[in-house]
Amino acid sequence: MEIQLINASLPLEDESRLYAMHAQGGRWTSVAVQDEDVCTANAVRLSDIEGLPETGRPIDLEGRMVLPGFVDAHMHLDKATSIAAVGNRSGTLREAIDNYGAKVAGFTKAEIKQRIVSTALMALSRGTTHIRTHLDFHLNQGREIAFRTMEAALEAREELKGRISLQLIPMCSFERMGAAGVEAAEELLKLGMDGLGGAPHLGSDPKTEISRIFALASRYGVPVDFHADESDDPARRTVVPIAHRTIEYEYGGRATAGHLCSLASMPPGEAGEIIGLMAEARLAAVTLPAVNLYLQGREDCGPIRRGVTRVKELLAAGVPVAVASDNIQDPFHPFGRADLVQIATIASYAAHMGGADELRALLRMITEVPAAIMQLEDYGIREGLPASFVIVDARSVQRLFIEESPSRWVVSNGRWVSAAVRREWSAAAPAVGSAEMPR
Ligand SMILES: [Zn+2]
Repeated sequence: MEIQLINASLPLEDESRLYAMHAQGGRWTSVAVQDEDVCTANAVRLSDIEGLPETGRPIDLEGRMVLPGFVDAHMHLDKATSIAAVGNRSGTLREAIDNYGAKVAGFTKAEIKQRIVSTALMALSRGTTHIRTHLDFHLNQGREIAFRTMEAALEAREELKGRISLQLIPMCSFERMGAAGVEAAEELLKLGMDGLGGAPHLGSDPKTEISRIFALASRYGVPVDFHADESDDPARRTVVPIAHRTIEYEYGGRATAGHLCSLASMPPGEAGEIIGLMAEARLAAVTLPAVNLYLQGREDCGPIRRGVTRVKELLAAGVPVAVASDNIQDPFHPFGRADLVQIATIASYAAHMGGADELRALLRMITEVPAAIMQLEDYGIREGLPASFVIVDARSVQRLFIEESPSRWVVSNGRWVSAAVRREWSAAAPAVGSAEMPR
């Protein structure tokens, strides 16, 4: 299929110019600043097209922006949209973990797969073409239950291939399982998991846990991606041993720490030292502003901490920082629509970033930065690269943050995969129920 676009704006290139773009056979064949006398006679305006814009004619974007497909570096697709089945009365992280753990044995593989596929497609309709999802690995409940989620995810990844790419990261917990846990994690890598993760700050011996994960990941040459210090407690500092192991294993560029909430609770000097260590280790950060604002600070009577990590300080130190969704409509976070524009807007509030350069930085934090963290090859809008992109209904970056563009048109590998125009917006979203755990 051939795609021709004219009067396109590329905000990550040069917002002051318009571009003419051409894709064929799934890849960009040309991306060029447009001649001033571009002919629009044969073109069809995007706003005049119903449904998917599958046409052989050039499509006139009338100045709308084209961005490379969004990259969500931290989701939990296996749990997403489970809120109808798993409640959370207190709203706390602790109850969310407990309630999901109590229900997981009752979820069939088909149910978990359905949640993964439908949430990934929800993300795709908002312009996300690449997702790294963490996966619960409840080995303490038995092998069959633990592997059920993994098999569901592997099948979902296969089913979604070509439309949206998934990286799968099991959350390992070796503390209770010892050698059996390490063996099971190794088996997961052989089955095709893309890396290893975990939440070592939840255990009693995070250092040992972190070392085990690095040792196994490095044997297989796969990335590590930790939930790090998702807590208001400034004494939680698992990011320090994560950074040390990143240096020791020469894992810079392949190691990521998500959350880093406690960093925001520390005195600035202490946080600065840790941020310096992260920069030295080339350890990347992912901030999850929606979920951190929702879950953290619940014990505080005031001032209430917000949980969101020190985004500006991390950026200033040269640490790559991605913005990601985390949980969608589950006991950890009852809201969310898998929309990285919405999450970037929340990040702009939470991290106090609203200037023109800062908004552009936020756009990079949902595109180029997470693409680098996920080591995506062939990412971006350039001749020869796969044509995976989203057209947003905005003619400037500021306008995108103001209106969040309810309409999106999405192409994956040269194929139109979604056209969610404003009037179809709510129809595209699945129904949401709610459930409370019986006390
Ligand atoms: Zn998470």
